[in-house]
Amino acid sequence: MRLSRYFLPVLKETPSEAQIVSHRYMLRAGMIKQSSAGIYSWLPLGFKVLRKIEDIIHEEQKRAGHIPMLMPTIQSADLWRESGRYDDYGEEMLRIRDRHDRDMLFTPTAEELITDIFRSHVGSYKDLPLTLYQIQWKFRDEIRPRFGVMRGREFYMKDGYNFDLTKEDALHAYNRHLVSYLRTYERMGLQAIPMRADSGPIGGDDTHEFLVLAETGESEVFYDSQITELKFGDRQIDYDSVEQCQAVLEEFTSRYARTDETHDEAIFAEVPEERRRTARGIEVGQIFYFGTKYSEPMGATVVDKDGNRVPVHMGSHGIGVSRLLGAIIEASHDDKGIIWPEGVTPFHCGIVNLKQGDAEADAACDAIYASLTALGLEPLYDDTNERAGGKFATMDLIGLPWRITVGPRGLKNGVVELTSRRTGESEELPPEAAVERIAQIYGVVAKG
Ligand code: ATP
Ligand code: MG
Repeated sequence: MRLSRYFLPVLKETPSEAQIVSHRYMLRAGMIKQSSAGIYSWLPLGFKVLRKIEDIIHEEQKRAGHIPMLMPTIQSADLWRESGRYDDYGEEMLRIRDRHDRDMLFTPTAEELITDIFRSHVGSYKDLPLTLYQIQWKFRDEIRPRFGVMRGREFYMKDGYNFDLTKEDALHAYNRHLVSYLRTYERMGLQAIPMRADSGPIGGDDTHEFLVLAETGESEVFYDSQITELKFGDRQIDYDSVEQCQAVLEEFTSRYARTDETHDEAIFAEVPEERRRTARGIEVGQIFYFGTKYSEPMGATVVDKDGNRVPVHMGSHGIGVSRLLGAIIEASHDDKGIIWPEGVTPFHCGIVNLKQGDAEADAACDAIYASLTALGLEPLYDDTNERAGGKFATMDLIGLPWRITVGPRGLKNGVVELTSRRTGESEELPPEAAVERIAQIYGVVAKG
């Protein structure tokens, strides 16, 4: 993409309404624009990152054997009356009346609808296990929307639902989700720690929240520092293997890590003092086993091996897709702007032309641009007439992890400059070598 043809409405001033750094940078980098409280338009740069995050989630869900689908945002109240949640949900639910005076609502989550789909089409244990998921907009009329996309009213969420014959099977689905989430967040350059969370009114159920440590997080968390040393890395897990998934769960949840809702001072005190940490975290996901909570009242049953009709065991598993943009920025920035991890960066590399209009510099930039594009990479080429300082400031603000700087002086010696956004370190090398390096970083190889 050439910047002169793109839509990147960068703000010079720091918007006064933004209290935290991710919100400030998302506004300044022209990623989002508020349309009303807690509701945002996703401008091209923000939309690009949102799509990257979504792509990673789809890839990892597929790897775990989960099936994508899409449900409507507007739902009939009737299903929610069946489960009893129409009255329970309270003010956070946006209720709508249609022209026929029917009660509708904007989905805050979709357990009821998916359970209805299940009961309409599945009737035998032979069709299980089954895990369906979607990535879809949700609406919760939060009392205090704030921090930009972190606590919106309209927000983008991955919500998945497992259907299993037995509690054991459903717990395997739970573990499988935990494993796939660990991989998912790591690919986004994040460390998200599974923490035992509050199971709500129905006791005995399993639930973990995934938290990214950040000073601006809304949750207070307590953990054993050893947990931050764990890495999922690129291990190959057979998601059908109960033992393998269980082993990962045990590894990642056996150390103390809890939110304030489940925190227990007495148990925490058993962690050696030098490893005890109190911090703040951003909730980026949650997995939940809730058994037959919806399947029983809604009649989602299957015939088991002995011919008996039994309610299915279910769980739901969410990822805060739009919130993740904020969380990633909170975890990765400096005082000049965002520093995108390679896995989610909106463009792979920036190209800065120090002397636009100089025939040689223009030609060199065009050649680098063409080579990167041919490799399947997406560069953002600042081909505007802005002075160098302004170009650097924009690149730093929008946070592309790599920048190639091209100027007449370097070209005389046959070199361009390759700069890491994260370390600020620069290296001079021939244009082809710079392209080669970028290709290596992103794991792509020249074709032919
Ligand atoms: P919170 O405690 O932050 O209100 P929640 O526990 O009610 O969240 P879930 O129902 O678990 O939320 O939803 C799954 C994920 O969706 C959460 O882990 C979070 O990342 C994200 N999420 C929830 N509410 C919002 C919101 N208002 N804005 C943006 N993301 C949200
Ligand atoms: Mg939650």
